[in-house]
Amino acid sequence: MIDANEEIRLGTVLILKKGHPCGENKWEITSFGVICKIKCLGCGRTVIIDRVDLKKKIKKVVKQDETTSK
Ligand SMILES: [Zn+2]
Repeated sequence: MIDANEEIRLGTVLILKKGHPCGENKWEITSFGVICKIKCLGCGRTVIIDRVDLKKKIKKVVKQDETTSK
């Protein structure tokens, strides 16, 4: 489990340890709180997931927009 508190925010793209059945395993965060929503970039389906659970599943954080970071 990686500590991704700093990395995760709206619009962040994540690669999870386990991909979606559609074959994609990149996910964009569309809602972030205690409960998060992530959208599969392969098929566009949204999945609701507990933040603690989500963090356990993250393999890699893909930073997309550098413009709003520190
Ligand atoms: Zn999918």
